[in-house]
Amino acid sequence: MAQSSLLGYPRIGRKRELKRAVERYWSGKNSEQDVVNTASEIRKAAWGIQNKHGIDQIPVNDFSYYDHVLDTICLMGLVPERYNFNSSKVDIDTYFAMARGAKGQPALELTKWFDTNYHYLVPEFDAGSPKLSSDKPFAEFDEAKKELGKAPKPVLVGPVTLLLLGKSHTKPLAEHLADLLPIYAEILSKFKDAGAEWVQIDEPTLVEDRTDEERSLYQQAYAGLASQSNRPKIMLQTYFESLNGNWDTAVGLPVEGLGLDFVRNDENRAALKKNGFPQDKVLGAGVVNGRNVWRSNLNDKLTLLEEIAQTVDKDRLWVQPSSSLLHLPHDLDLEEKLDQDVKNILAFAQERLEEIRVLTKGLNEGRNAVKAELDANQKIFDQAMKSTRIYNAQAQERVAGVTEADFSRTSPFRERIAKQKAALKLPEFPTTTIGSFPQTKEVRSMRAKWKKGSISDQEYWDFMRERTKEVIKQQEDIGLDVLAHGEFERTDMVEFFAEKLEGMAVTEHAWVQSYGSRCVRPPIVYGDVYRPEPMTVDMIAFAQQQTDKPMKGMLTGPVTILNWSFEREDIPPYQTANQIALALLDEVTDLQKAGIRVIQVDEPALREGLPLRSRKREEYLDWSVRSFRLSTSTGVEDETQIHTHMCYAEFNEIIAAIEALDADVISVENSRSHAELLQAFTDHKYERHIGPGVYDVHSAQVPNTEDMVEMLQRSSKVLPEEQIWVNPDCGLKTRGNEEVWPSLKNMVDAAKEIRARQPVGAD
Ligand code: GLN
Ligand code: ZN
Repeated sequence: MAQSSLLGYPRIGRKRELKRAVERYWSGKNSEQDVVNTASEIRKAAWGIQNKHGIDQIPVNDFSYYDHVLDTICLMGLVPERYNFNSSKVDIDTYFAMARGAKGQPALELTKWFDTNYHYLVPEFDAGSPKLSSDKPFAEFDEAKKELGKAPKPVLVGPVTLLLLGKSHTKPLAEHLADLLPIYAEILSKFKDAGAEWVQIDEPTLVEDRTDEERSLYQQAYAGLASQSNRPKIMLQTYFESLNGNWDTAVGLPVEGLGLDFVRNDENRAALKKNGFPQDKVLGAGVVNGRNVWRSNLNDKLTLLEEIAQTVDKDRLWVQPSSSLLHLPHDLDLEEKLDQDVKNILAFAQERLEEIRVLTKGLNEGRNAVKAELDANQKIFDQAMKSTRIYNAQAQERVAGVTEADFSRTSPFRERIAKQKAALKLPEFPTTTIGSFPQTKEVRSMRAKWKKGSISDQEYWDFMRERTKEVIKQQEDIGLDVLAHGEFERTDMVEFFAEKLEGMAVTEHAWVQSYGSRCVRPPIVYGDVYRPEPMTVDMIAFAQQQTDKPMKGMLTGPVTILNWSFEREDIPPYQTANQIALALLDEVTDLQKAGIRVIQVDEPALREGLPLRSRKREEYLDWSVRSFRLSTSTGVEDETQIHTHMCYAEFNEIIAAIEALDADVISVENSRSHAELLQAFTDHKYERHIGPGVYDVHSAQVPNTEDMVEMLQRSSKVLPEEQIWVNPDCGLKTRGNEEVWPSLKNMVDAAKEIRARQPVGAD
């Protein structure tokens, strides 16, 4: 009999209870016990609902107060010296100090978990010798075992993945690994003693490009762990991609189970058909999507499982999601405002449980045993096919009608920039901001009131216009050259557009953990996207009327809108990107008609869509660059200056793509990784205009003029001066007015100073 299994469940609570509990703890309003109690309730609810759906292998230790990699750092005692930790168990304050920084000590570095929007804390391997320093997994195991009356399946981040995700290695990886293995062995033995039959060890790094040397680490690790006799069986779990070139390594490891992703693409399916599967291993078949919100087509999934069962005997099969459900919102029941046609075709974490139940039963007992469920499921898909909410002929025809010319502006950059200079009359080293200004309490509370209906549209928009007017005046007063309207009317740069575009839906409660207590609510692209009416023109035109300086139109780019949403699966992503691009193009040309001469199309999420496998990157960059160009070409006059913004500095690998966007001006994050960015421009001759951020908006300090002058001087060593713009690293939304204005004043002074010091053309 096949079993059903889960890799992990959402842990922030159905209504983000964990967020509230830990944030209150941080501000001193909650005791540690309050946090512990909330956490326990969340876990019990998760186990209860999984149990109710008959899940055989219920995960534990998938819960975390902040981040599961941080939990593993604590488990291994990899606490960097700066936190002055010298007891045998990591306490909650040391834990949060590593997550958030404390007493002047910086937090651990935070970075993206593979290709998700989840962020983990980076282990530091110069932290001294590891030793078992936490009871958390064992406590949760006992708690669940008592609650469920059966042994759950503990989940651990694997030793090789922990190593490869870490930094500050002080010796060869194999030696670090040798330090970790005795601790993993000790953990396994404790779980065995506590009654665990299986343990799930996550090694998602096995789906990335690996060198032979790295591949040998997995062999070293699992040969070591397997030789330990007192241990549960090991399910080695991979996700987010296929094994590809690491197939032989993975299937050759001396473990009892291997978990594979059968959703991301067909590569694991093909490899399984071609190579077969070891007789002595259980296959964890990840057949329903742990990363996206579409209801599974159960007939298709059952066909897939039946096919897999031809290679792997049912007794050795686990039916499971492709990854942890951490990346999905909690449940659909909370969504009261979603259109019913849309809601019908969605499945969040809780809805996945029922899919897993039906599929396992169907596989074990035959299709007839789940006939009613399969029929009901098929009916939903048949109905959806007919929905005009989802399919829009006009939007489809418009993308289909796009020609090669639609991806290029009329004239090359050299000619455009000359015309723009004449039209805009900007000084050398022009100053600007990235767009948003502080979203004060007042702004947020007005929006909350408006959403509740306690103030009228009129009152709300009067207030927003007033704030916009004010911020324009302030920008004029300090002497900025290209102004922004402040984005007060936008909660989130993607949600704002998703609310206005057809084919996209926003949700009320569909939160997903991004990092720590921070959650995001990605919109859902459920159908063909088009723009029923202008989205930003009124506000930007109003802003332009307040000033003689150029006002920037401010849009979010097609790739960012797509990457920060749940995307469609029935058409390729480039098609959705192009639909969004065409909607944005209409906005760009409408802004132009309204007299806006500078239009910024932000693409901060372009880089994060980069596929995990390097051989797939070119294709991604190709279509994403094209969709940006589609949004900024046809009908855009030479005199209209197109800006874009990105906030990361790992530019080297994608600089050609960035140039290919053909944006006239790009502003980028720079101050935290100055050297790296400048290196990119030393290696690659960049021709367009660029504003390498002169100060870090994530710091509360007011930057001084001298430092910014120095930054500009350094930039002008690798870039011709006439190409350089002066701007902060990123938007100022999360900062306070008391820092923002002195900072910008200093920034404008820095520009003035460098203009005076270095007349263009001089050495
Ligand atoms: N224009 C946006 C802002 O200023 C850009 C945000 C971003 O880069 N993430 O807030
Ligand atoms: Zn940014």
